[in-house]
Amino acid sequence: ELAQIGVTGLAVMGRNLARNFAHHGYRVAVHNRTQARTDSLLADHGDEGDFVGSSSLEEFVQSLERPRRIIIMVKAGAGTDAVIEELIPLLESGDIVIDAGNAHFPDTVRREKLLAEHDLHFVGMGVSGGEEGALKGPSIMPGGPAESYESLGPMLEEISAHVDGVPCCTYIGPDGAGHFVKMVHNGIEYADMQLIAEAYDLLGRGLGADAAEIAGIFRTWNEGDLESFLIEITAEVLAHTDDRTGKPFVDIILDQAEQKGTGRWTVQNALDLGVPITGIAEATFARALSGSVPQREAAREALPADAEEWVIEDRDAFIEDVRLALYASKVVAYSQGFDQIAAASRENDWNIDRGAMARIWRGGCIIRARFLNRITEAYERDPELPLLLADPYFTEAVGNGLAAWRRIVAGAARAGVPTPAFSSSLAYYDGIRAQRLPAALIQAQRDFFGAHTYRRVDDEGAFHVEWSLDRSETSEGRPAG
Ligand code: NDP
Repeated sequence: ELAQIGVTGLAVMGRNLARNFAHHGYRVAVHNRTQARTDSLLADHGDEGDFVGSSSLEEFVQSLERPRRIIIMVKAGAGTDAVIEELIPLLESGDIVIDAGNAHFPDTVRREKLLAEHDLHFVGMGVSGGEEGALKGPSIMPGGPAESYESLGPMLEEISAHVDGVPCCTYIGPDGAGHFVKMVHNGIEYADMQLIAEAYDLLGRGLGADAAEIAGIFRTWNEGDLESFLIEITAEVLAHTDDRTGKPFVDIILDQAEQKGTGRWTVQNALDLGVPITGIAEATFARALSGSVPQREAAREALPADAEEWVIEDRDAFIEDVRLALYASKVVAYSQGFDQIAAASRENDWNIDRGAMARIWRGGCIIRARFLNRITEAYERDPELPLLLADPYFTEAVGNGLAAWRRIVAGAARAGVPTPAFSSSLAYYDGIRAQRLPAALIQAQRDFFGAHTYRRVDDEGAFHVEWSLDRSETSEGRPAG
């Protein structure tokens, strides 16, 4: 009997994904370059469902029903290309190759073209939720040809996480769309984590609270609008004590944050598209700053603080201010991320439904949160919503916290507490709502030194001032007047 789905690449992610399919009653063909991994999957979990082992890629391909559905879950990059090359000659017209690794979306676009030349379907599929998600239900973001989703979609929806009975999986869009939204998901995750870290720092430095006390605050916050996986695990981490020293666990960790690159990709793409995602960018740079060891050493010695003491008279009011500032900054970060999705969708003709993105991120993935329901509702009210922040619900929610947000950012600046994501989000908020921006002066400067021209508030067309001559205004094609 042939298998309905195949997984090649049986490290932690592939193994768990294969088990997830098996748990849902599918006959799953499994393969790994190094045979030992296949053997250990069958030995450790073979009794959990219907697995078909194989000792070669040929055997694996032959064990699948047609059109074949083959999930590649190997090390992203060269590993994925190597497996694809090996697979191509073994497959037949109409077979579906699914890359579930963390591919960079331009690679997915390139791979889809290559496979299309061989009359094969390629589905670049974002999978979020880590190993636990892969096993118990991830958030799944499949792109590629819409017709592939017809055969693949129902299986994927079945093994995905579910919230209120709704699967956290939907068709995203052509070629690189799935991996693109997975990338932005990860970027938003960077921003969310940085904002939480800043809130922790503010509470610690403002209140002089220790990790256990802050854990309690996060636990309380997790019962309100901020309820989310990241807030929940933050409380758990902060409450944890180091076995070796008996100190709060967070206090014994070296303060240098690492990254695997999806935040960087998100920011690079936003720069290309010209979309201001300041929250994600600050979060990415904050990790880089933390890892700038020689610079930090030099600065620690040389740079004075000249900061004021942060005198907090009402502790509860301060905690509420931090909570409101965190929520407002978080809305900004998500609004920016959804803006980036909209811009990329327009640029690539992906036709991505932003409300559906928020819906499939409610479960299975790292940024899962109650608040995503609000985003889905916002796009249901207006699918073309130009700015998430401008949805009435968010306008009100952020508006209610505005005074608190300003108090926190100003207080942090006076006290010398770095809040790059809180403060840049507030600057974005004030920038995007400004009646008039100093960008007018930038245009004038550009015209002065580079004759880059400017547009007027009271006339159509492009104008230039003869700065080095008589400073008269000229316009393209006609004398200005
Ligand atoms: P790894 O990224 O550690 O990759 C190891 C697997 O890739 C092994 O099965 C290995 O085979 C295989 N592999 C590497 N190079 C080749 C090659 N040239 N040819 C054939 N096979 C190769 O595994 P993970 O399970 O951690 O992750 C798999 C994918 O999932 C990655 O793309 C990763 O980025 C992504 N991922 C996603 C997460 C998420 O939350 N969505 C979390 C973690 C990972 P062998 O055993 O023979 O060495």
